[in-house]
Amino acid sequence: MRESDNPCMNCGACCAWFRVSFYWAEGDDGGGIVPHELTEPLTPFLRCMAGTNDKKPRCRALDGEVGSSVHCSIYAARPSPCREFIRTGEQGQANDACDRARAAYGLPPLPLNAPGRPLKNETRTNMTAGCQRSD
Ligand code: SF4
Repeated sequence: MRESDNPCMNCGACCAWFRVSFYWAEGDDGGGIVPHELTEPLTPFLRCMAGTNDKKPRCRALDGEVGSSVHCSIYAARPSPCREFIRTGEQGQANDACDRARAAYGLPPLPLNAPGRPLKNETRTNMTAGCQRSD
């Protein structure tokens, strides 16, 4: 699948709706790969992507305009919740979290029969507890 065919490239709602939290050691200061300067502490053991715990969440690593054209500036180094999140239609599955984030931006759910597979190097599984609303 070409990257331009991936509907996530015209969306980004999940990156600007959920708190994206994960074990602190995913940061590059803990042996992981996520740039720590783009994270915020949550608890002694958890951190989140900077900006995603705000009242109006938006990940600081997200470039572009939600619903128009976006990309993750740390795509290869994004944390596990982002890798595991599947969009509706991926692998023929629905994801209520994807639908809710899109709805918050006035976007309809993606079709279940949308073409394509995960972008290369993506190993997404299912909805993760790491992405959640904080309110
Ligand atoms: S790290 Fe990238 S994929 Fe994850 S929420 Fe931020 S912009 Fe989105």
